Amino acid sequence: FEGNSLAARDAKSLIHSYTNLSQHEKEGPLIIEKGKGIHVFDDSGKEYIEGLAGLWCTSFGFGEQELINAAIEQMQKLPYYHSFASKSTEPGIRLAEKLLDIAPVEFSKAFFVNSGSEANDTVVKLVWYYNNALGRPKKKKIIARMKGYHGVTVAAASMTGLPPLHNDFDLPIQGILHTSCPHYYRFGKDGESEEEFASRMADELEQLILSEGPDTVAAFIAEPIMGAGGVIVPPATYFEKIQAVLKKYDVLMIADEVICGFGRTGQMWGSQTFHIKPDILSCAKALSSAYLPIAAVMVSEDIFRGMVSQSEKHGAFAHGYTYSGHPVPAAVAMRTMELMEERNILEHVRNVSPRFLNRFAALADHPLVGEVRSCGLIGAVELVADKKTKRSFDPKHKAGHLAYLAMQDEGVISRAVAGDNMALCPPLIITESEIDEMFDRFERGLDKAAAMADK
Ligand code: PLP
Repeated sequence: FEGNSLAARDAKSLIHSYTNLSQHEKEGPLIIEKGKGIHVFDDSGKEYIEGLAGLWCTSFGFGEQELINAAIEQMQKLPYYHSFASKSTEPGIRLAEKLLDIAPVEFSKAFFVNSGSEANDTVVKLVWYYNNALGRPKKKKIIARMKGYHGVTVAAASMTGLPPLHNDFDLPIQGILHTSCPHYYRFGKDGESEEEFASRMADELEQLILSEGPDTVAAFIAEPIMGAGGVIVPPATYFEKIQAVLKKYDVLMIADEVICGFGRTGQMWGSQTFHIKPDILSCAKALSSAYLPIAAVMVSEDIFRGMVSQSEKHGAFAHGYTYSGHPVPAAVAMRTMELMEERNILEHVRNVSPRFLNRFAALADHPLVGEVRSCGLIGAVELVADKKTKRSFDPKHKAGHLAYLAMQDEGVISRAVAGDNMALCPPLIITESEIDEMFDRFERGLDKAAAMADK
């Protein structure tokens, strides 16, 4: 790349996440300059369909004027205030009321943070705080799942079940355990039905709780659909069986709705789609269509009462961020929630989702595709070297990365997640004809990748 180009300056000055750093130093970034609707444009003017809504987040696409106006108006009125020591602002109050109103179960209170990671770190601390309040200082362990993604801060990364987030970071921290990923295609046994597989997953969880001691296990955390772990849709009856085990041993259910929340599955929450009744819920991303950073945690009345009694002992609830409930992102999030209703976004997702699912299903015959997984407006194809035996590509072939580059060349931004799973999670405003265009480009990218694939 050119001597003093933006790309060259980037390579000299910036560290990028989830990037091969030495390759980046040589090749530089793709610089995105602007966006409109479901499209973004790079600095050479090339147009792309943002097939992943950024990082599974820009539900209203790019350039939604209503959200921009909400930010400007709030900026002019009160550009910042905090929520420490009983201070508050109207946008935070309205948004908390709204979230409690639309929540999948009856929650008592909402707490604001800035990111999904902070939401999940907060969840861990609340679980510990609550069990201290109940006088059960031993009941602190949290069970997460292999391939689950819950963020990158120390506790959230510990719950994430992807080895690259642990290796060399000295994680997970003590007391965070992992149970198996409920991926039927990969881990179901010959002749085992989806329901039997779900029962086996629940049995495994029960055995883990028993071997650790039920009096030491506080909570279980799960995404309704695993996103960054490869878009793993739970097998039939999975959450019903898991929750029966949790109930038996008085273990809290935490729903990480950071990707699934706000319409992604065709309902407001993934918890509704998969019959989850959480005690605690974390959400972020589409809460503000990602226009400004904001995330939230909601807790049951039981948990809130525990927090009240514990904070009495110490004089205050000693947790929170400078930007917790920042009025500007809160105002943008509130406008996002209103727009979801005004524009019937849930209904729209349910209307266009069959086209999305059919186009995904049609990819099952592609020579590179081992499995297709999809729900609502989220899905992935798993690339395999051998369809019959389900053999994965040798990681050194970087099949997913090659497919991603080929797709980018064709004008659709996807991503290879957790290996060679090519994900799509477009803005929720996408139309049927845009879905067709996105899949046409995606398929051309897959064909190119198939021509290059070294099996
Ligand atoms: N939880 C889930 C399910 C996520 O997908 C993510 C991010 O992709 C996070 C938590 C972490 O969110 P953030 O990147 O905002 O910290």
